[in-house]
Amino acid sequence: MASIVDTDPSDWRYVSEGGATIVFSYHGPPNPEFDGTVLRLRKALVPSLKTVVKIKDGEVYKQQALDGEDEPDDPTIEYQTKCMAKLIPPEHLPRLETVKLDQEWLQRLAQLENLKRPEARREKDGIDVNRRKGVLATDLVGGNWLAAEIKPKWAFLPSPSHLSEETNSIKSQTCRFCMHNHLRKSNGDIIEMNYCPLDLFSGDETRITKAIHGLWDAWTESGGTVNNLKVFAKGKTLRPAETSLMLADGLDASSTTTEQIRDAFTSALRRTLIKTPVLGILSRLQRTLDVLDIEGLSKLWRTTERAAPLYRTTFESFFAQPDGTSPPPTTPLGVSSLFLSSPEPAIPDWVDFLNTYLSSFSSQLDHSKPEPKNLRYYLLAYLLSATFKDCSIIVRLDFLRPCIEPKIEVKPNTVTVIDLDPKSLDKLRGWEKLDKEIAGTYSLNTARKTCIDAFSSPT
Ligand SMILES: [Zn+2]
Repeated sequence: MASIVDTDPSDWRYVSEGGATIVFSYHGPPNPEFDGTVLRLRKALVPSLKTVVKIKDGEVYKQQALDGEDEPDDPTIEYQTKCMAKLIPPEHLPRLETVKLDQEWLQRLAQLENLKRPEARREKDGIDVNRRKGVLATDLVGGNWLAAEIKPKWAFLPSPSHLSEETNSIKSQTCRFCMHNHLRKSNGDIIEMNYCPLDLFSGDETRITKAIHGLWDAWTESGGTVNNLKVFAKGKTLRPAETSLMLADGLDASSTTTEQIRDAFTSALRRTLIKTPVLGILSRLQRTLDVLDIEGLSKLWRTTERAAPLYRTTFESFFAQPDGTSPPPTTPLGVSSLFLSSPEPAIPDWVDFLNTYLSSFSSQLDHSKPEPKNLRYYLLAYLLSATFKDCSIIVRLDFLRPCIEPKIEVKPNTVTVIDLDPKSLDKLRGWEKLDKEIAGTYSLNTARKTCIDAFSSPT
């Protein structure tokens, strides 16, 4: 196992961060173990917040007893090698390995790099200096190329079969992302975005162009703060004012308009996305794993709990005389109780699930009538779908030459899927609540968007 103390903290530069992790890239002297790699570290809340906020990210990773050498490898690694590799061709996954960390080293890195982080993030969290193991991954953005990181989000419209009367007409017309964007805009959290993921996933050139324009415009208008598009040039995160750094060497930036750069970027990205199978894979996985929608999953959860023998005996009086009696309480979706227990999945559970999902068993299920005995299957399927709804892709591009037809060569590593973290059952009740809020708020919107799912099956 590589050890981080073989490098100096000053060899590493801050790249970016998400809710749970923070990424640095290697710029030190030549070293075969670290050249072309990034270091992905877990974050921890700043001490003053630790007592009032629970770990926000509900990933399966729990705080470990951190002394001793037996801290497990970061679960991302095992999840990727044992699970994701069965669903996504290896050439579209980054190389990941465990690296040994050191507290003092991490503290020095934090001192050196903390000021480069966005202020809002710095107030909240920082590098978890107590970890003994981190993740070393392929540096997808740091070479002599341009990289676009896209968080595409939900690829499909739900099947109407499990939607309630109130949500059916809303959720089958406007996609989840566009509705969520409306809610966040109403709350003042984010700007309005024209980007619709169903355009990006459509496979249609005109629609993909529209999607990329939507991403670009939101990136520009937000000053580069939307998290659906990030652009890197030679490892540097670009701000919208720095688009001239996207041009190939030798081109005169002063005679190139931003419009020309936007067009060249769109054209290169669109041609690459059309050639790669990655978006098609993500779309198929999302929709075949989330077949019930959270509404159908919640219904199945309640039906299963109600059918449990202990539930029936506990609430016997209700079942004897159901008319006029208010129904007995049910446990929130994903929360185990005396009546219904569904523990958080660990890696062996995911492996079992994938064997089932990839077998003929899953194709024989009648999703219009999900059975309580298959509840566990549907729960894990939904969580896995959420992983693919939340992942990002990194697309490697040549530096731009506006007005010249780009030569697009799609090689392994041209498009890579990242941020494939396992999700946990304790997220489900929050997601159910959010889903209601999103659809409820959208139902009040008089100018509803129509999003077209190019791959929806006729009902
Ligand atoms: Zn949409």
